[in-house]
Amino acid sequence: MGLMDKLIVTVAVTGSAEQWRKTPYLPIKPEEIADQAVKAYEEGAAVAHIHVRDPVSKVPNPRVDLYREVLERIRDKCDMVVQVTTGGGGPYGVSFDQRMCALDLYPEFASLNVATMTFGDSVFMNHPADVEKAATLMLERGIKPEVECYDVGHVALAERLIEKKLLTSPIRISLVFGVVGGIPATSTNLVHMMNLLPEDSRPNIICVGKNQFPMLTLAINLGADARVGMEDNIYLSKGVLAKSNAELVSKIVRMVKEVGKEVATPSEARSILDLKGTSMPRSASN
Ligand code: ZN
Repeated sequence: MGLMDKLIVTVAVTGSAEQWRKTPYLPIKPEEIADQAVKAYEEGAAVAHIHVRDPVSKVPNPRVDLYREVLERIRDKCDMVVQVTTGGGGPYGVSFDQRMCALDLYPEFASLNVATMTFGDSVFMNHPADVEKAATLMLERGIKPEVECYDVGHVALAERLIEKKLLTSPIRISLVFGVVGGIPATSTNLVHMMNLLPEDSRPNIICVGKNQFPMLTLAINLGADARVGMEDNIYLSKGVLAKSNAELVSKIVRMVKEVGKEVATPSEARSILDLKGTSMPRSASN
């Protein structure tokens, strides 16, 4: 199987929402977040999508010291790619500037939200000027952005960033389904969004809630990468809570193999996405 045909599995271990009210297995503290990421790597995840939470209140709290601890703990154990969120807490009132704090650690990969939208019962603010500022910062620092598209029009916003030469090839785009306020999780919507992708893009499919595994099955068959994890879905199957993020990764990896495909290792994911490598985390001053 050629390198580009391998599928990149991302694990989103904790997210920003109040999943801890529904499951006791959600990692909260930096060491728990790192530990679950590493165990997910052992099951085949190449990328960890990282949010941090206040260890006591559990609410999203983007703080550079929390990110640093998570990133260092992961790096000590394995070579998996770490993608920091820059959206974390956005729908829950965290300011745009605070959301960008982890970029000071020069991670190799970060999410980039391009649109303001209704997000459940909240509003997710992403002013066009702020989005451009974030994209410029990532470009200057060699941080690969993953553009998060929650609806049809968001793909057009990604194309505007391409026109402004703020994104480099391959264009990494996540198509996100099932967020209340975004495009619903249906198979026709997935195919439609796939058809809208800009040239030279490498899509990743994210689906929130109970349709996650059916949608990811289709995504895998269409050749897209897949994200699992408790940020998006806390159930392994109907009514059965996942006891770890590793269990969710194990399930998606099994599905990939069942359809005759292979998952990418972290170093293969770096080649596919043209990431700059594992030098993170380092502070801006050293
Ligand atoms: Zn996230």
